[in-house]
Amino acid sequence: MNWNISGSEEIRTKKFIKFIKVIYFCLLIFFLLPLPLSAANIPLSKELASYIGTLEKQCVKYGWTDIKPREIPWEYYRTTKKKHPLIFVNFGNSGKNCVLFLGAVHGDELPTVYLMLKLAHYVRDNPQIFKDKCIVIAPLVNPDGFLLRIPARVNANGIDLNRNFPTKDWYPEALKKWRLKQHKNRRYYPGQKPASEQETMFQIALIKRFNPQKILSVHSPLNFFDFDGPSSDLDSFEHWLEKISKESNHPLRKFGFFPGSLGNYAGHERNIFTLTLELPSSKANKAKEYFDKFQTSILKFINLSVKVG
Ligand SMILES: [Zn+2]
Repeated sequence: MNWNISGSEEIRTKKFIKFIKVIYFCLLIFFLLPLPLSAANIPLSKELASYIGTLEKQCVKYGWTDIKPREIPWEYYRTTKKKHPLIFVNFGNSGKNCVLFLGAVHGDELPTVYLMLKLAHYVRDNPQIFKDKCIVIAPLVNPDGFLLRIPARVNANGIDLNRNFPTKDWYPEALKKWRLKQHKNRRYYPGQKPASEQETMFQIALIKRFNPQKILSVHSPLNFFDFDGPSSDLDSFEHWLEKISKESNHPLRKFGFFPGSLGNYAGHERNIFTLTLELPSSKANKAKEYFDKFQTSILKFINLSVKVG
């Protein structure tokens, strides 16, 4: 009798162990199966995944359905006041021919974001473009301004990021010019001191890390090309740009630079060929049209070799 009880207990125990094994196996499959699938995508930190999700929604809202921000291998090391990651992507690793692209330094210049995101897709899909080159794209320098319900030019601290670079004339000129020439227009407020903003530090860090020979910053809606760069090779760059201006049917204007502007910091003070592309409007629904219009010029800019000296 006792033997029978212990015998049935043994059967029950074996059944229970078998049941546990099945459960364990099922759980293992459940957790391991998604791995090869997620490995196909780029693993994102929680912070970045949330930001990319927001960005995707914004792209859909603007009708930019061909943009898939999740497919680009973004890097980031800084966040904004509103905790948005300041993302960039780096293709290629040559230090000799490096170009930096910047979009949406002003958050209300909507098509600039599309142009830079589309460029990131294009470069990723055409790796021959960055052979023997380095291409760095920061598509959204001012996400806090861009992601507002009504997008703003300035960042969350109310500062114009294209007036906040630590140029030599910043202290004597920036606030003075803002008061006298801009009549204290908040859209152009340079801040109380230079390089006070994470977004400014982000751009400076990209310039220091990648040491680009060329920078293209995309703005809108002033509708021209403008450039700043080293005087040694400015003539040939000017000729090149005149040609590009004719080819793309887009005016060339010498706009000059301001205290704390990128053209001043990078072009004037650091001898980096700094091209500003001002798109004809800030309308999101024009973005695809603008990419088609300027794609050739942008690719030619990547290939342009410049003398540095
Ligand atoms: Zn702008």
